[in-house]
Amino acid sequence: MDSELAFPRADEENLTREEAARRSALLTVQDYEVEVDLRAAGAADAVTYPVHTRIHFEASEPGASTFLDHLGDSVESVVLNGVALETPTHVGPARILLPELRAGNVVEIFSTARYSRSGEGLHRFVDPADDQVYLYTQYEPADSRRVFPVFEQPDLKAQFSFSIIGPHVWQLRSNGAEIAREVLDAGTPDPQGGVLAEPPVCVTFEKTPRMSSYITALLAGPYHRVAGHYSRHGGSGDVAGLPGGESLEVELGVLCRASLAEHFDAEELLELTRRGLDFFHQEFGYAYPWGKYDQVFVPEYNLGAMENPGLVTFTEKYVFDTAATDAQYETRANTLMHEMAHMWFGDLVTMHWWDDLWLKESFADYMGSLAVDEATDWTTSWISFANGRKAWAYVQDQLPTTHPIVADIPDLEAADQNFDGITYAKGASVLKQLAAYAGRESFREAAQRYFARHAFGNATLADFLAVLEEVTGANMDSWAQAWLQTAGVPVLSAELGDSAEDPSGGTVVVRQQGTDPATGEPVARPHRIRVGVHVLDTATGTLRLHAAEEVFLDPAAAGGLTPVPALSVPRDQPRLLLPNEGDLTYAKISLDAESLAAVLSYPVADPLARATVWAALWSMVRDGELSSRRFLQAVQTMGLGIEEIVVVQGLLRQSLTALERFTPPAQRGALQQDLAGRLAGELTRTDGDHQRAIARTLAVLSRREGSQLDLLEALLDGSGEDFGISGLRIDEELRWAFLQALAAHGRVDMGQLDAELTAKTTARARIAHRLAAAARPDRRVKADAFEQALGGTDEDGRELSNDHLTATVEGFGIAADPATASLIAAQTEAYFESLLRVWNQMSQGQATRVISGLYPGAQDLEEGQVPEEHPLVLRTAAWLQENAEAPGALRRLLIEEQDHLLRGLRAQAAAQV
Ligand SMILES: [Zn+2]
Repeated sequence: MDSELAFPRADEENLTREEAARRSALLTVQDYEVEVDLRAAGAADAVTYPVHTRIHFEASEPGASTFLDHLGDSVESVVLNGVALETPTHVGPARILLPELRAGNVVEIFSTARYSRSGEGLHRFVDPADDQVYLYTQYEPADSRRVFPVFEQPDLKAQFSFSIIGPHVWQLRSNGAEIAREVLDAGTPDPQGGVLAEPPVCVTFEKTPRMSSYITALLAGPYHRVAGHYSRHGGSGDVAGLPGGESLEVELGVLCRASLAEHFDAEELLELTRRGLDFFHQEFGYAYPWGKYDQVFVPEYNLGAMENPGLVTFTEKYVFDTAATDAQYETRANTLMHEMAHMWFGDLVTMHWWDDLWLKESFADYMGSLAVDEATDWTTSWISFANGRKAWAYVQDQLPTTHPIVADIPDLEAADQNFDGITYAKGASVLKQLAAYAGRESFREAAQRYFARHAFGNATLADFLAVLEEVTGANMDSWAQAWLQTAGVPVLSAELGDSAEDPSGGTVVVRQQGTDPATGEPVARPHRIRVGVHVLDTATGTLRLHAAEEVFLDPAAAGGLTPVPALSVPRDQPRLLLPNEGDLTYAKISLDAESLAAVLSYPVADPLARATVWAALWSMVRDGELSSRRFLQAVQTMGLGIEEIVVVQGLLRQSLTALERFTPPAQRGALQQDLAGRLAGELTRTDGDHQRAIARTLAVLSRREGSQLDLLEALLDGSGEDFGISGLRIDEELRWAFLQALAAHGRVDMGQLDAELTAKTTARARIAHRLAAAARPDRRVKADAFEQALGGTDEDGRELSNDHLTATVEGFGIAADPATASLIAAQTEAYFESLLRVWNQMSQGQATRVISGLYPGAQDLEEGQVPEEHPLVLRTAAWLQENAEAPGALRRLLIEEQDHLLRGLRAQAAAQV
């Protein structure tokens, strides 16, 4: 590196792709030794902790300079190759400059880091149930620099030796297994009282294989741990997939907070883990390379889970301390498999830079669903995928900010916004199509070669295409160009050709349309699909599969049309033509008029076809082609009775969105009341998962709609039987959900909310209480909540944690009556004026919560108003125009919110006609 890297640089926190490329051309990093001292983490006033780091690395150009990334509290000393560097000159706000490198270098740094409340870096959480302190790290994409000085980019892999100093009674863990434990001198005062604590210990962990810094991890606290074991022996024939008949022993562990231990179904998790390891060994032909495998469920987590090798972290929402539906258990299994797939895709072979984030996320997302389907007892994995993951992708892929799966990520801020529906769900959908296109066996063989070739290294799209081409013998360039390097959703429709003179009923023709949103040019893609014909079965009153044909859609087909002559379609009875039978490809489905009429009148019998059809109907609502009134009608007549709870949950969520965003204001009140009444009735007729999902939805709907509040009150005080409701467990989750709705209507006051919290003080209750308090219809309450959200601090000026910030934002946005709605609307101008300040002052994760969460995107379109001229659309456009130089990641949030708003307003306009 050369002198252009001189300090200070205002945006040095935002590492660019070019800087990273130059740095990895210059450096080879051998290893890190990092010791973090958490012995005082239990103290009530703990804010910072000492860190000691030593790094060995080589430079290809002696005399050049480079830098470390560091976002800690302070740097006490830097010694490079035995020479102390002056910290004021060499330590910037986010970098430590290392001048005059030798071929071989060692740098030693004493620094101080801050505990995080935002879930970025080393997060510190105090359990309100028992005042115990829990810590864990979360780094992706670039937050290990919040803990220790590091060359923070995925292609500067190194070996890591971590040590943690902490209380000897705590779980102290890292990626590698514990290899040494030393008792230190006593002398640390007990933060809880005047008595001297037991002396702390220093635990050292096994040096890791070469890996990227964003997947390193530390854990400390009195976690509850259940141990397990995975053992496969080459000789005994139970090791399918282990190369060369190897034997493999893996210590397993699952952990959660002590106060959740009674709800922790550890054995089920361990069993899923074993099944997953067997599955991936067969798929990948490469033995699990990371030694032990701990899975930890942690509080106030920003995401679902993170694939730290040997120490995977999950949100503790997956520890079900209240009743959970089968869909929730399945989602958890999917996440567990997703993270396990990353032990190979992402951890063993890593993208060079964040452009190729899909190389790990798309694969893990696809493999997660595949593993649940093939290695567990759930049979609904691809239904969940069609209904949930793909819906996410279709929404994102129609935003003006959409991008190709292989993205252009110039810097870290852009990387942070790219953990989106394209990278995960569209990528996974395209891989599902690739498995159909190239064949499952070819796909598996390509993955095996990819791991064998690039283990412990980095890879790009070209490396993956190379193994794919070797295996299939086909040139994959045009496939990759069409699917990975072009954005936008293809639209498929199946139509019946002219049948006037054709007694067989005419020929089915599949039509493909598509536009690249970036260029506006038409795009055609190669698809391997099945086209299904479903016909009314009068005995059951359902649409049943009558015939299906596989067909290849050639992107060069004239007019985008592909005939399917072998497919017969009976005349004169209700029928559905489904151009994505089996959900093999990624495309929006446009139903022809006859098919639409059929599916709005009769349920589809096949579960996967049914999920595909419901996804198509929801797309039509979003496109203003199907009114929310008709959609809600269909949900109430056919949707609520669907057996797969994952589909029902999806439809309930979509119903709420339809009411809030896609329904004209003149129709909304009546439709809301209809749905609330229907849900209340269903509570008396259903049980189990369906009853619970309906109760949750009724609670959320009742935050705005007040016709069922008496019922919610009765359920709260245990007299649900008076309303004919039995079997519904009113646990902590539902109690708070009902209280939040009642608070929004002013039917419970602060005293009642406080009493509920005092009666049972848990982490969940704290969050729920905060949301309920901010939901109250009161001028002062709304003004305070708005201020707290923008400032990221609570009523006493203390920093709000990520979960508490979200609860504040969400509570603020709740209005059960027009007067409260106008209190919220009154803050709109202040919102726009605060955007830059919030972005600059908060971490990107916290700022994103605030900016997206406070955007008042649910708006009414007045009679005769043009959507594009709605005041909020215009105000957003004005902000974007005045702030053309604002950070791209911030502008992206506003552009997306504006587009969601416009889509809703356009659907309202279409429904008014
Ligand atoms: Zn992932």
